[in-house]
Amino acid sequence: MAPETDYLLAVEGLTVSFDGFRAVDDLSFYLDRNEIRVVIGPNGAGKTTVLDLICGRTKATAGSIKFDGAELTRMREHEIVRAGVGRKFQTPSIYEDLTVFENLEISFPRGRSVFGALAFRRDSEVSDRVEEVARSVFLHDQLDRSAGTLSHGQKQWLEIGMLLIQNPALLMLDEPVAGMSVSERVKTAELLRRVIQHRSVLVIEHDMGFVESIADKVTVLHQGRVISEGSIAHVKADRKVVEVYLGH
Ligand code: ADP
Ligand code: MG
Repeated sequence: MAPETDYLLAVEGLTVSFDGFRAVDDLSFYLDRNEIRVVIGPNGAGKTTVLDLICGRTKATAGSIKFDGAELTRMREHEIVRAGVGRKFQTPSIYEDLTVFENLEISFPRGRSVFGALAFRRDSEVSDRVEEVARSVFLHDQLDRSAGTLSHGQKQWLEIGMLLIQNPALLMLDEPVAGMSVSERVKTAELLRRVIQHRSVLVIEHDMGFVESIADKVTVLHQGRVISEGSIAHVKADRKVVEVYLGH
């Protein structure tokens, strides 16, 4: 097997232009299995657009996104989800009126049957999995609480749980610790380090303390292109990175 086929995600020459403006411009990067990659870069660098392209919400103008052998640029959003890509947006999209248990339960894959999300029996397979995931996102003692009453950080964790219950091979998170307390950030880092035993994580984040606590490798974007990539120490010492951040 050629080494490049072993990457979980291979992005090559990815480009999207909005009315002639290249928000993502000939971008290439490779994500290993069981890796946490953090993407950083100034506002407008194209970070969120990269996630939009990977999850199929935005169509690429050119380039390729290979995920576990499949070409994602040719697939629709729901097919990409089914192929094993879970994506968390900046604002949590949970069902505020449902309990924590119910939010996780309706996210369990077999819940999306023709009989409707809530129609199936709460058999032990589902409730065992809900409890396991709730424990991993620090919500096992909040199962009966209505989701709308959770703290901001707990809502973020619940949404991560709603993705984890679908067991994605790639979990993508856009600024997951924004608005979290210091202790919530520490727990989120612990959570992400734990979940990569079974998957890879691609996370956009600004908070450098958080980035240092989780990243294997950092990719720095600027004007839709990779300007630096490597260990935290490497990118922090890179003159191009320093210039871009000083300019902001
Ligand atoms: P980041 O997440 O790094 O802050 P974004 O990916 O959100 O940056 O945006 C990158 C650039 O692309 C910005 O200049 C933004 O205005 C532009 N952009 C993003 N999405 C669209 C869109 N759907 N239509 C037009 N311009 C867009
Ligand atoms: Mg963004």
